[in-house]
Amino acid sequence: MRLSQGQLNLLERCPRQFQHTYLEQLASPANPEHQERQTWGSRFHLLMQQRELGLPIASLVQEDAQLQRWMTAFASAAPDILTPLNSQFRESEHCRTLQVEDYLLTVIYDLLIADERSAQILDWKTYPKPQNRRWLEQNWQTLLYLYVLAETSDYLPEQISMTYWFVQSEAPQSIKLTYNNTQHQKTEQKLHQLLKQLTYWLQRYEQGELFPQVAEGNKCDSCQFAVRCDRNTCDKDSVLSESATTSTNELLDLATIQEVAI
Ligand code: SF4
Repeated sequence: MRLSQGQLNLLERCPRQFQHTYLEQLASPANPEHQERQTWGSRFHLLMQQRELGLPIASLVQEDAQLQRWMTAFASAAPDILTPLNSQFRESEHCRTLQVEDYLLTVIYDLLIADERSAQILDWKTYPKPQNRRWLEQNWQTLLYLYVLAETSDYLPEQISMTYWFVQSEAPQSIKLTYNNTQHQKTEQKLHQLLKQLTYWLQRYEQGELFPQVAEGNKCDSCQFAVRCDRNTCDKDSVLSESATTSTNELLDLATIQEVAI
């Protein structure tokens, strides 16, 4: 079974939601506002990829003023990222896969820049910088991306970092997360624990048992499966309305932009 960071995030958030979304494919399409943001995100990723490949980007930015503003602001905020050095290995949409137990963990780095001494994972985000840095530190995108690079390369964890760039403003901002061996061991433990649980839940599911639900609370109020789970204790309309999606939920979804559909 292939797993991405988005699936690990969802599994940790609520196993039943993982079951409905990935095993039963019951998730409904994102609301129009969310879809529009995903489109912006995809266009920015495409622009950065084309640029990295040395393909012309003039036509892309000319027809899209917003994209042009983001690109201009990013170029002035991070000129070093856009200027390749001969000593560097650089690749956009760099994909790696690592087998852990019966699972293939797949990551796609928006840009990987590496040289003899270090390797940087760069990730573009087209939503505002989160207030809480810990949210990013604990998100499976960060954990898995760093873990897989350390496991599939000769770099020590201390030589690896991950930087998120939030490009949706006149002054793009970044958050750089460093890595070390202690964090690597912790992630390994956490990963094995989660995968062990998943294996157990999958075995039970094959025998007709549903994945566990989370305790009733905020997560259920903002979940599209609230009715199916008999968790819509408050006003049904508000549970199902587009505005019910919390920012946490949206960030969870937005973090999957430009990931492979696996
Ligand atoms: S309603 Fe609650 S228990 Fe059911 S899938 Fe959603 S978050 Fe999980």
